[in-house]
Amino acid sequence: SMNQGQKCKIKGSIVAWGTPAAMKIEEVQSTTKTQRIATHSHIKGLGLAEDGTAQPVASGLVGQEKAREACGITVDLIKSKKMAGRALLMAGAPGTGKTALALAVAQELGSKVPFCPMVGSEVYSSEVKKTEILMENCRRAIGIRIKETKEVYEGEVTELTPEERPDPTGGYGKKVTAVMIGLKTTKGQKTLKLAPQIYESLQKEKVTVGDVIYIEANSGATRRVGRSDSYATEFDLEADEYVPVPKGDVHKKKEVVQDVTLHDLDQANAKPQGGQDLQSLMGSFLKPRKTEITEKLRLEINKVVNRYIDQGIAELVPGVLFIDEVHMLDIECFTYLNRALESTLSPIIIFATNRGICTIRGTDIVSPHGIPVDLLDRLVIIRTMPYSVDEIIQVVNIRAQTETLSVDEDALVLLGEIGANTSLRYVVQLLTPASILAKTNGREAIVREDIEEIDSLFFDAKSSAKLLAEQADKYIS
Ligand code: ATP
Repeated sequence: SMNQGQKCKIKGSIVAWGTPAAMKIEEVQSTTKTQRIATHSHIKGLGLAEDGTAQPVASGLVGQEKAREACGITVDLIKSKKMAGRALLMAGAPGTGKTALALAVAQELGSKVPFCPMVGSEVYSSEVKKTEILMENCRRAIGIRIKETKEVYEGEVTELTPEERPDPTGGYGKKVTAVMIGLKTTKGQKTLKLAPQIYESLQKEKVTVGDVIYIEANSGATRRVGRSDSYATEFDLEADEYVPVPKGDVHKKKEVVQDVTLHDLDQANAKPQGGQDLQSLMGSFLKPRKTEITEKLRLEINKVVNRYIDQGIAELVPGVLFIDEVHMLDIECFTYLNRALESTLSPIIIFATNRGICTIRGTDIVSPHGIPVDLLDRLVIIRTMPYSVDEIIQVVNIRAQTETLSVDEDALVLLGEIGANTSLRYVVQLLTPASILAKTNGREAIVREDIEEIDSLFFDAKSSAKLLAEQADKYIS
């Protein structure tokens, strides 16, 4: 298994054809599952003291001290590269913070360490193979940090002499007609030839004489020009459309660090699927165009990333893949994951379960947590315990602060009581509707009555199940 911060090669056979195509890295959209992590946004780490003991309330975490301390030891094992081939299992009742702890582990491994949560049942899709879904999520949990040094020029726009003014017939390079602007740099007066697109965008920004503009160069060629050095305008030009910026005129060097995941790179470089026939064309209007990430593409991406790692441009940042409801996985998935754990390129896998002994899906074998023994052997198991009323109140309070909601003391107490009888998740979820109710009634703060009313409108999982059992004859079965 991969170890934190270690420079490591990505496994995968080198395909013979050609040099790797230019890989899209800039403008890569992050595909992090933000929605799923949103409810845990108050969590910033494990909240452990120097000596590894858990502080009662720290880094957004409350209670669950033993599990947090165990997680801390696991983080140390990962950092000292002693978790190779092993994985973590969180065992505990629903709503005991398993996801929250897994996220905290990722955060303790470093900022920008990817965290990819998934549920076991996600692998069952009619369209995609189970192992493909596992592979995709593994790649979502492997980060690549790309460091680039960019040269930035700064210059003041000056008036052009008549001879220097844009020549509509003049050609620069093979493809583009050059447009010129006058520029005063630290090294004196310059006339800069710019590609028309760049010139146009400067006009859109209403750049005039006297303005300071910044020009970012990519090995001597113009990449971006703008009014600020954060470069609002970015150009996607062909290499021979780049306009060389005179060497030796570098004003400053900026280190740009970009964090992406392997999956981000896969996605950004995937080609739209389907042929050119009418049906696929029509289909693309009806639903967002599907892109297919092929095995070949992944190998290419690995190859390019490996090259970047060799050149010292990129660094591998293995993250955490969190698989909740692990008993939903079947034997085929377990076989795949067992192999994945042995690979040089594996995220840290954290499983979670609330099941005891049950059958392994796809077999008749009964096993603890529905996990095959060979995988169980590799697991470090951490138990999570139910929360006390006080702890529930504290978590709800932290969540309220994160969502900038004010909650009355009385309302908090009631939420604690309800939470103890239902689940932490249920009461945390009551906050938003309760705040809407409070607002509707013209109040800033959530009061006890709001909670009572909302609680009477919604069912938590337990009371819903109880109702179903009592009135079983009234439902279709
Ligand atoms: P599990 O995975 O065990 O079901 P979870 O981590 O998904 O639990 P939820 O049941 O969704 O947690 O918990 C509800 C909310 O409480 C979430 O916002 C979660 O971040 C938060 N939470 C859970 N445990 C703690 C804790 N010990 N300290 C602070 N917040 C917590």
